[in-house]
Amino acid sequence: MKDLFDYVDFGDLKLNSRIVRTGLWESQRESAGNLTPEIYNRYENIAASGVGLIITELFSLYQKDVFSKYSLTMDYPQFVREAKDLTDLVHVYDVPVFAQLGFVQFNKKTEQNIRIEDVSVEDIRKIQTDYIIAAKKIAYGGFDGIQLALGNYYFLSRFISPYFNKREDKFGGDTYGRLKIVLQIIKLIKDTTDLHINCRLNAFDIQKGGMTLDETIEIAKLLEENGADSLQITRPRSPQYFSRENYEKSLLASACNDIIDNVDIPVIMGGGVKTQKQINNVLNRTKVDFISMQRPFVADPSFLVDWQLEGDGETICKTCNNCYWKKTATCFINRTPQLNVR
Ligand code: SF4
Repeated sequence: MKDLFDYVDFGDLKLNSRIVRTGLWESQRESAGNLTPEIYNRYENIAASGVGLIITELFSLYQKDVFSKYSLTMDYPQFVREAKDLTDLVHVYDVPVFAQLGFVQFNKKTEQNIRIEDVSVEDIRKIQTDYIIAAKKIAYGGFDGIQLALGNYYFLSRFISPYFNKREDKFGGDTYGRLKIVLQIIKLIKDTTDLHINCRLNAFDIQKGGMTLDETIEIAKLLEENGADSLQITRPRSPQYFSRENYEKSLLASACNDIIDNVDIPVIMGGGVKTQKQINNVLNRTKVDFISMQRPFVADPSFLVDWQLEGDGETICKTCNNCYWKKTATCFINRTPQLNVR
């Protein structure tokens, strides 16, 4: 029997449980980018709670991206020192921590939100270079890994989707062509850092003509062959749209099963689960070994402590999505100040 609090291998890493905390965005940073005491405190609470792996809120690759006003950023002088303080704090609890990296729009001065087919090869080389520079900063900051945001319609997710990428050059066309920008980024990160590389992918696109599950499986295999160390499979839309589904029989769990059958690297199933029982049902009735949770950690960073002590539990998150639509890092329902569990 698998249990969510099993001590398990995750590729080259050891995890204290099968729960992966994935961040949304981090609006509590200072305007210049600096991390605040609230952020350090939240990370310490999450690390001490019994979580297996922490994936940060999104680090925005570009300072002027539409998401950078809500996201963490690394374009300020103290980034590496502050990141090292944060990762050192998390590592006290023997919890690995990955930095999530992505951006939404590619802009050049007056040209905004450039379409995938209008991005020049020179632009692609600049984007790849910017990823490598960011990955090196992430490595210097003490992170164990990097999560490349290739799902949820971030820029690279659109680049690999046949619905959005209509290019006719070597960076378009078939699956390999559309994925080439990512495969080259992975190779360069592997060549220049020791970071574990996790790729977060949509299980399928919701647009007609977008990625099907069969193509996601092909992409998962190509990512593994080219150096990805693990995958996270996500729904293309918010869990609010799936709140009544039976998780172990859901489209997402079924997609994860099919992907797990085709790769030999760890696969994390994206979020939406609410109770300890649901999680253990997914773990024992499917091939899924790792489950991600996001909003439950926004509602209460320490909820796993109660789950461990009581042997059962349900998140207080109501999936109202206010922290999603309003892009804050705090819960609109549970406003009780969080106490450090130490
Ligand atoms: S604001 Fe809503 S979705 Fe976000 S954590 Fe709170 S209850 Fe959950």
